[in-house]
Amino acid sequence: MRNIDHFIGGAAYASGERTSDVFDPNNGVVQAQVRLGTAADLQKAMGNALKAQPAWAATNPQRRARVMFNFKALVEQNMDELAHLLSSEHGKVIADAKGDIQRGLEVIEFSCGIPHALKGEYTQGAGPGIDVFSMRQPLGVVAGITPFNFPGMIPMWMFGVAIACGNAFILKPSERDPSVPVRLAQLMQEAGLPDGILQVVNGDKEMVDAILDHEDIKAVSFVGSSDIAHYVYKRGVAAGKRVQAMGGAKNHGIVMPDADLDQVVNDLTGAAFGSAGERCMALPVVVPVGDKTANALREKLIPAIEKLRVGISTDAEAHYGPVVNAAHKQKVENYIQMGVDEGAELVVDGRGFTLQGHEKGFFVGPTLFDHVKPTMQSYQEEIFGPVLQIVRADSFEEAVRLPSDHQYGNGVAIFTRNGHAAREFAARVNVGMVGINVPIPVPVAYHTFGGWKRSAFGDINQHGMEGVRFWTKTKTVTQRWPDGSVTGENAFVIPTMG
Ligand code: NAD
Repeated sequence: MRNIDHFIGGAAYASGERTSDVFDPNNGVVQAQVRLGTAADLQKAMGNALKAQPAWAATNPQRRARVMFNFKALVEQNMDELAHLLSSEHGKVIADAKGDIQRGLEVIEFSCGIPHALKGEYTQGAGPGIDVFSMRQPLGVVAGITPFNFPGMIPMWMFGVAIACGNAFILKPSERDPSVPVRLAQLMQEAGLPDGILQVVNGDKEMVDAILDHEDIKAVSFVGSSDIAHYVYKRGVAAGKRVQAMGGAKNHGIVMPDADLDQVVNDLTGAAFGSAGERCMALPVVVPVGDKTANALREKLIPAIEKLRVGISTDAEAHYGPVVNAAHKQKVENYIQMGVDEGAELVVDGRGFTLQGHEKGFFVGPTLFDHVKPTMQSYQEEIFGPVLQIVRADSFEEAVRLPSDHQYGNGVAIFTRNGHAAREFAARVNVGMVGINVPIPVPVAYHTFGGWKRSAFGDINQHGMEGVRFWTKTKTVTQRWPDGSVTGENAFVIPTMG
């Protein structure tokens, strides 16, 4: 049995009495054991980080950026290996696993421009002989806690920007698929990153709590489910840290009567069922406006869903693979039963799906519900599986209200040919990321990513310039260089420019 160790001080570190099973979701078997670390393991990493960080911060930003350039090249060279590793623990198909890594690499590309992004502001002559300038300085040692569903992209969202800014970074990846994060840390070292600047501590709640309570960790970025995000936010802030904590989602796709339904069906099947629905920017709720639109959409959706190919993650023809583990499969199937019990119409039932030769794999077939109501618990909560729910709206106003009133506010999309409706919708909807005829509106790396309401706690987004702000603190200097003569009066009142 393979063990997945921590990566501390530039080397594998095998410590921890407790372990957790890492499955092969295609076959349902345990393929490795990951170590569940303790506060003592974190302390070992902290010693290295505290020692290494000042020299890294003092390394000029262009040289730090060169490590990012090298890392990008190494990840590209190792793309196939990384994608297979990712897919073997997560279950997403290879092409999608490559997308997971590629979206993270795009944040690394952004981080290659860090010398430009870190430039401060300057005002000459803010007062008589006075100049004001600001600089962005790293926070010191910082940490990231990441979910299972993007084991490549989300660690890179965080450590790319944080490390380029001059911080040392401790990564606590999901214990369900930790191999790619460990491999990325090894590649960063190969790219020239000094030991101790990127370390991986594996673990569960015990390790998370140790991170949140550690007084030398200055900032924590978290991505995962909302209750845990809220907990991490509260506990981290109480310990005096800067915290951003992204949570769950229930993204709606609004379909206006004038939308191109063939395009919508094509987009929806990918966005609802791709990666078995295990994406925080998946589109699990579709809101057709008017019964005519709803009926026409449903008629086209059913055959498209029936054509979907569910397969093992290395099947190049498969649209999606298994969900991550047996507990998650059970959870998704429980939500399907809940929908039935609540009175929604189960149009396509994906329960009980088995794949020949892979009977123990964690597969869930594509599922479609119609006549789902906003009062139903199965609508209000995140299912995070290959389940699409149709919620019929009578009007545009109702369609704006549904995602706006939902507890989550990560992403939303509108499908229409009407520019006015799209513009109104984008301006008014109470959600953080909006797609106009774009089903999964994940912003590109040099913009920023973040939801609203219970999809994100804290006020600064991931990556782009918001990421630079999150991982640095601003220092502002007001300077005067007197020429030797004493000028001005003694001032006992606050200086103003009045
Ligand atoms: P999760 O909340 O179970 O785990 C996330 C992290 O928290 C993991 O590292 C895990 O070890 C840790 N953790 C788990 N239980 C904990 C506890 N009791 N105390 C402290 N830490 C704990 O999330 P997941 O199932 O790995 O990921 C899926 C969730 O993440 C979904 O809700 C999805 O919507 C969300 N997500 C959100 C975004 C976003 O940007 N908003 C992106 C991706 C995923």
